[in-house]
Amino acid sequence: MNLQELAKEIEQYDSFLLLSHIRPDGDAIGSQLALGDALERLGKTVIYYNEDGCPSNLTFLKGSEKVQQSTPEPVNVDAVIALDTAKHDRVGPNSLKAGEQVPVWFNIDHHPSNPEYGTVNYIDGTSPATGQIIYELVQAGGWKLGEQGQMSAYVGISTDTGSFRYPATTSKTYRIAADIIDDGLDVGAVNSATYGEQPYRKVQLLKHLLNTLEVVHNGVIAHWHLTADIKNKLELQPEDSEDLIDTIRSIEGVKVALFFEEISSDSDEIRVSMRSKTPAINASEICQSFGGGGHALAAGIRMDGPLATARDQVIAKIIEVAK
Ligand code: AMP
Ligand code: MN
Ligand code: MN
Repeated sequence: MNLQELAKEIEQYDSFLLLSHIRPDGDAIGSQLALGDALERLGKTVIYYNEDGCPSNLTFLKGSEKVQQSTPEPVNVDAVIALDTAKHDRVGPNSLKAGEQVPVWFNIDHHPSNPEYGTVNYIDGTSPATGQIIYELVQAGGWKLGEQGQMSAYVGISTDTGSFRYPATTSKTYRIAADIIDDGLDVGAVNSATYGEQPYRKVQLLKHLLNTLEVVHNGVIAHWHLTADIKNKLELQPEDSEDLIDTIRSIEGVKVALFFEEISSDSDEIRVSMRSKTPAINASEICQSFGGGGHALAAGIRMDGPLATARDQVIAKIIEVAK
């Protein structure tokens, strides 16, 4: 299916529930707000849900107040559109319930590990961001974006490319950004809002994480971790740890960076963030072997703890693959 066909398919319906993954990042919320803006401009009814609501670091996005925290009551719409969500259950339990009785699920994503769980699937594993797919979909459909959509598509692309740095960034990515700026985006203000206003507690978190840093396997693997106790003590929000892993990923000689986090003090669940700097170590495949997924160079897992056990298992797997 190409983007024109996808646009035609979507246009058949009148009302939509837009979803994205739990612990949403800029691309998750950005894709929802960008696509929702285009659909609203076509006269469609759009409901925006996210399991965790809109994180505080993204409330500067125009229209972000429309994103509601998911409730488990079934929503009566023609179609669900799941965005940037590598696995069906990553929309979260309440979102799953909300969309359970909706007969049509569109699944639009850029994770190569996506198993095509939708009734209609559009997965472009080469795209650096779901926001970029949405921008191209809007063009293919001859649809329009207003301020909400342009800002949100830009922020989705900017955050998922690490500010246009990661290798999946192409000339097309820069052209889309340039087009959005030509259409009036105040790029300096949006970049400052995205990257230049982090809460103090996030810097305290960095200080703490650096104290747990270990570099092992001849300098090839860097890892740090966060316990639920520290999360409570620093009153952290889930979004606070986003991107911090880039700090240890950037260490000279490091090929794999890992972040291990206890989800909460009353469960054994561990969240793993993995970044690879080499195609020789496929982070997505390693994460999939533990039930997670993602991209070749950036992937994640939710696995059983305790933390030290999860860490030993994952590091052992990387060492085995790196041989
Ligand atoms: P993160 O480390 O949370 O920033 O995630 C890196 C990439 O892997 C993102 O594209 C996520 O959507 C994806 N990802 C993270 N955790 C999982 C998981 N448990 N299952 C599938 N994909 C994941
Ligand atoms: Mn995402
Ligand atoms: Mn994404």
